[in-house]
Amino acid sequence: MAGVRFEGVGKRFGSVEAVRELSLEIADGEFMVLVGPSGSGKTTALRMLAGLEAISSGSIFIGDRVVNQVAPRERDIAMVFQDYALYPQMTVFDNLAFGLRRRKVPGADIQRRVAEAARVLDLEALLQRRPGQLSGGQAQRVALGRALVREPQVFLMDEPLSNLDAKLRTQTRGEIRRLQQEVDTTTVYVTHDQVEAMTMGDRIAVMNEGRLEQVGTPEELYERPANRFVAGFIGSPAMSFFTGAEVGLNLPNVVGVRPEHVRPWREGLIGPLKGRIAFVEALGRETFVGVDVGEARLVVFEEGRAERDVGDEIEFGLVESGLRYFDADSGAAL
Ligand code: ATP
Repeated sequence: MAGVRFEGVGKRFGSVEAVRELSLEIADGEFMVLVGPSGSGKTTALRMLAGLEAISSGSIFIGDRVVNQVAPRERDIAMVFQDYALYPQMTVFDNLAFGLRRRKVPGADIQRRVAEAARVLDLEALLQRRPGQLSGGQAQRVALGRALVREPQVFLMDEPLSNLDAKLRTQTRGEIRRLQQEVDTTTVYVTHDQVEAMTMGDRIAVMNEGRLEQVGTPEELYERPANRFVAGFIGSPAMSFFTGAEVGLNLPNVVGVRPEHVRPWREGLIGPLKGRIAFVEALGRETFVGVDVGEARLVVFEEGRAERDVGDEIEFGLVESGLRYFDADSGAAL
């Protein structure tokens, strides 16, 4: 078992700085999610850790060992990609055993490891099937199994769920998390989906334009975002931003507020504010109401199914403890 450490790691592709001065420590057994928008450098960071991309500057450690110059197959990692090409002509058992056989692992050891992976991933009844006879979720579990039988020091996963439909994605999310907790192997997981990040990560590293914006637990990122980028990226529906001047309140700097802290008007809130309804998202148990106030758009949260119409006026207020303040120029949390 081993942790992972990025120390001032950079990657250039010509004039593009894909990753800038990345310093990040991932503890032994930790599930770390790298999340960020497209092009933020997540995959490049993962590929450098895997040894698939040369490092332009800095060092990467797996355990105590600097791996900058170590070949991918010597790094003792296993990767799961979005395109998990299984060998179509082989059974599930042979797909799982393939990498071990190539590494000349003894037969009895292969039997044991495949049986263990099949048990953990609930593949025991499928071992004699071929990939063409599996559902998408089952095939994805076989792909995970191939990584698992390697018994590596570190799992690397790059958007492994993005080819699954929404329901299966939610289910497989839980399975990967349970699996990782059972084997307790350090995992680095890349996704652009903040919900996936929030539900899976022990900690989350948020990347933007090659830079690490913040690293913390899901709760820390949600409650105490380091800057406006993280505040806007984490949480759904997103945090709204406005200035006091825009909404006619005496509030300093840029204010950020999440929907749960914007409520229909009652005493005790900051306000009242008046705005025009721009959209209504009734989800059954809750309703999100988008409201235009001058130049700003805020999202009001209402319990249950609120009867609201686009174009109507609404009176609402802000929960003071839910307000976050950001520097207007730098975007840093104040
Ligand atoms: P996505 O979620 O879209 O995969 P990402 O956050 O994983 O995005 P990267 O794939 O790491 O981002 O890309 C980071 C930046 O590096 C992008 O600007 C990308 O265009 C650039 N880049 C990545 N690989 C190469 C390459 N082989 N050659 C040139 N530029 C590259």
